[in-house]
Amino acid sequence: MKNIKKLELSENYSVFSPADGQEVGNYPLMDRAAVDEAVQRARERFPFWADVPMTERRKILRKVASVLSENADYYAEIIARETGKTKLDALLADIYSTLDLLKYYSKKANKLLKPVRASGNPLLPGRKLYYRFEPKGVVGIIAPWNYPFTLLAGPAISALTAGNTVVLKPSSQTTESGLIFQEIMEKAGLPQGVIQVITGNGSVTGQALVENHDLDMIFFTGSTQVGKDINVQAAKRLIPTMMELGGKDVSIVTRNANLDRAAHGTLWGGITNSGQTCIGTELILVDRAVYDAFLTKIVPLAKNLKSGREAGQVGSMTMRSQFRIVEEQLKDALEKGASVLVGGKVDRDQKGLYFPPTILVDTTPDMLVRKEETFGPLLPVIPYDSLEEAVRMANQSEYGLSGSVFTTDMDEGRWVANRLKTGSVNINDVLVTYAYPSLPFGGVKKSGIGSYHGEIGLRAFTNVKSVTEFGWNLKRELFWYPVPEGGDKVAASLLAALFSGNPLRRLTSAVRAGIQVIQIAWSRRKQ
Ligand code: NAP
Ligand code: MG
Repeated sequence: MKNIKKLELSENYSVFSPADGQEVGNYPLMDRAAVDEAVQRARERFPFWADVPMTERRKILRKVASVLSENADYYAEIIARETGKTKLDALLADIYSTLDLLKYYSKKANKLLKPVRASGNPLLPGRKLYYRFEPKGVVGIIAPWNYPFTLLAGPAISALTAGNTVVLKPSSQTTESGLIFQEIMEKAGLPQGVIQVITGNGSVTGQALVENHDLDMIFFTGSTQVGKDINVQAAKRLIPTMMELGGKDVSIVTRNANLDRAAHGTLWGGITNSGQTCIGTELILVDRAVYDAFLTKIVPLAKNLKSGREAGQVGSMTMRSQFRIVEEQLKDALEKGASVLVGGKVDRDQKGLYFPPTILVDTTPDMLVRKEETFGPLLPVIPYDSLEEAVRMANQSEYGLSGSVFTTDMDEGRWVANRLKTGSVNINDVLVTYAYPSLPFGGVKKSGIGSYHGEIGLRAFTNVKSVTEFGWNLKRELFWYPVPEGGDKVAASLLAALFSGNPLRRLTSAVRAGIQVIQIAWSRRKQ
């Protein structure tokens, strides 16, 4: 907070809780000058932080976990207030997943970032080869509002663990989540300026961060459209980006599924966090042989789900703009012949953005709800006739974030999992790939570029530097100038000795090469 007050500010903005309309906070809308100053400060702090030994960084991670877990209830309350989600959603998805990542990196970061030995080459003997992982520098992170804490903490913790400094822009709707993250980090001993949270909206503050010339990497989580625009700008300055974008995830329920688990799982996958989960179930595809039986399982479960401030099982949506998209998709589906089995009617007397959990049937591929990301509690159930058809329907999407398959036949499950064009798949599960910090998390196609979490994800915040070390006290190498007489003949013998497919040829060439090398060494002994 201190950092922000020092910077030049132009105006302020207020955030209101989507659950009850009450003001959550009022924050400075940071302009370009303020953003540039934050990046400059991050640049100045970078050499210091990059030099802090990993043991110290890991100590801070452990302390962060301790501060966060001891005050989890307090922080969950703040996250719930600005998003409208239930406290349980905040505790499980935002706080627990962050704690798990902290624990994983505090245990493993040393090993994951240790230099890696590489194998040698007989033409260049005597060298020790390895590659090192060095921090990139200043990482700009832009985060969304749906899981406002974990989706900024995840990349920020990864970037900081790898030795980068961070300038972080939360979504303006969830500014407080960014500020509490900085507060927790600094309470745990992270020196000032190593992470700075900048407050403001996308078009002013976010844009200023993207246009800053002194960033070494941009990590963006949000919509595909904004992600594309950011990539175009970053490409002009050759700044690497990592993109975690939208999705249209499919859950496939086969005729061999445990239908109870499939109904519970897909309902939770589609409705948790009011459907505002990038890897949430957006479409449920069910084998026609078990379609009716599946509906008789999921419909009563969905009917029992209460949304609303009193009920507390399903929270409110967070953004009015997103609420309108869900309303629009429902209207479009109904106009084109879909039917509602559960929900579908917004209670206008409810204060807040409460959209009832809704199950749709009789949808067709031309409907918006089938083609576009919904990001709300609207779940079409669609029958299919063969698994090939189900996989084809799933892969038709321009997105490729995640997906799931429900079956008691694990071979069948793997068959589907291997064919889905997505960044992750769950068999008899939903959403859990994100919950394992050891698994890389990312999407393909229009769902993103790159992955974070796990070994790959931590290393993604580094530059790889290859190093060779040569310790023999030799004056020069065989082929260095002046080129030895008959050098081409030696080279030909060596290549045949190493790569010929004929073992006898390899042997005779090796002997010839050995003699030629000794002759050269002898003729050079006085040079
Ligand atoms: P969004 O509009 O793209 O916003 C995401 C972030 O970018 C916010 O911080 C926003 O700031 C900022 N922003 C907006 N315009 C910007 C610009 N021109 N320059 C720089 N920053 C800008 O996304 P959203 O609609 O809030 O979030 C929902 C989307 O995120 C969905 O498509 C969802 O699937 C995707 N998502 C993906 C993942 C994943 O891991 N793949 C996870 C969660 C969400 P303001 O909000 O302050 O304007
Ligand atoms: Mg938006």
